Amino acid sequence: MNKNRPIVILGGGVAGLAVADALAENGLPCMIVERETALGGRVKNWACTATDRCLGCYCCKVDDLIQSVRSSDMVSVQLGWEVARLVRDGSKIESVGIRSVQTGEEKVADACAVVAAVGFEPYNPSEKGFWGYKRLDGVATLVELNEWVQSGNLRSFVSDVNQPLRIAFFQCVGSRDRSIGANYCSEYCCSASLRMALHLRYSYPQWDISLFYIDLQIAGKMAGALLKDARSQGIHLIQGVPGEIIQADDGRLSIVNVKNGLNAREEFDKIILSTGQRPARGMNSVAEILGLKLNEFGFISQSHAGSQEHAPAPGVYVAGTCAEPGNIQKTLLSAGRAAALILADYSNL
Ligand SMILES: Cc1cc2nc3c(=O)[nH]c(=O)nc-3n(C[C@H](O)[C@H](O)[C@H](O)COP(=O)(O)OP(=O)(O)OC[C@H]3O[C@@H](n4cnc5c(N)ncnc54)[C@H](O)[C@@H]3O)c2cc1C
Ligand code: SF4
Ligand code: SF4
Repeated sequence: MNKNRPIVILGGGVAGLAVADALAENGLPCMIVERETALGGRVKNWACTATDRCLGCYCCKVDDLIQSVRSSDMVSVQLGWEVARLVRDGSKIESVGIRSVQTGEEKVADACAVVAAVGFEPYNPSEKGFWGYKRLDGVATLVELNEWVQSGNLRSFVSDVNQPLRIAFFQCVGSRDRSIGANYCSEYCCSASLRMALHLRYSYPQWDISLFYIDLQIAGKMAGALLKDARSQGIHLIQGVPGEIIQADDGRLSIVNVKNGLNAREEFDKIILSTGQRPARGMNSVAEILGLKLNEFGFISQSHAGSQEHAPAPGVYVAGTCAEPGNIQKTLLSAGRAAALILADYSNL
């Protein structure tokens, strides 16, 4: 019997917060170990893309979770710490060693279970020169655009927001790409780009916006409304993967697009790369410490985690995008599943 011993949750993003929130609500003590200096994970950097109405991106959900976890007596939080080792007695977890990111100091936390919720890393498109990222002026990522919009600093990307601009979003950058070992869909980016396009068009109606896609992966109850809004707002949804980006002499960005079976050159002022999700930095080390396996793409293989019977890692659970890329809704579902497994197993941990 574990006599109310805590569950250690690695990662304080949406996944880790949602697991902690669900466990605390059911009276189980937990400790969130987050390597950064704040809770919230990646979502803290994403902009609200509301137009004259909420577009249902779920990003503000993270603030509700932080507030709920912070006000709970059942949850303690260690910021600036990461996992160093796992101590077992036979198959049972005894404790978790954690290390300060800043000083390297180590300490031991009593634990009967561990949840890996260490999230993802956005793809870095400079790995593939094709995209012109960090090489051509005016090419940026959806990550950067979110940060500029969120901080109200868009002028560092567009010097005069009042001028008419042509902007293109390129989908599936670093996803669905066998050549870089990422032959999977990151699932969040079609919706997130479309919402951002709508937000920009609403804020700067003089901007002309195109979105180039392989096929639009937009699901959920807002899907129909988003597509309808895109059409009514004149956002050009263009199926096709544009060719290499070239900077013309006047600084504009030129691409080749196939139109009616013919190659057509088009020019844009700015190109936004919708970068996919890659395994988090340090994933190998977390997996090794916890005794988990990684799948072919480097995410945690879910068949080796979960409830007690899922050897070889009893007492170790997985939640969120460290197991599979996805949006916030999918992350919340996965966190709910992890919490339900822990609740079912708790008396035997
Ligand atoms: C540009 C962009 C825009 C997006 N916009 C949307 C959107 O509008 N709507 C939507 O639904 N989804 C969106 N997403 C997807 C969304 O960001 C993810 O679904 C969500 O962040 C997943 O949460 P997570 O907790 O699994 O991972 P993360 O947010 O990555 O959180 C993981 C946490 O774990 C911590 N961590 C990592 N390693 C360790 C370690 N070893 N020890 C301790 N802590 C560790 C990290 O610091 C981080 O705080 C977007 C993604 C991107 C890239
Ligand atoms: S658009 Fe997203 S962040 Fe903005 S209010 Fe709606 S759900 Fe919240
Ligand atoms: S969600 Fe869209 S942009 Fe993202 S990987 Fe899937 S198809 Fe490509």
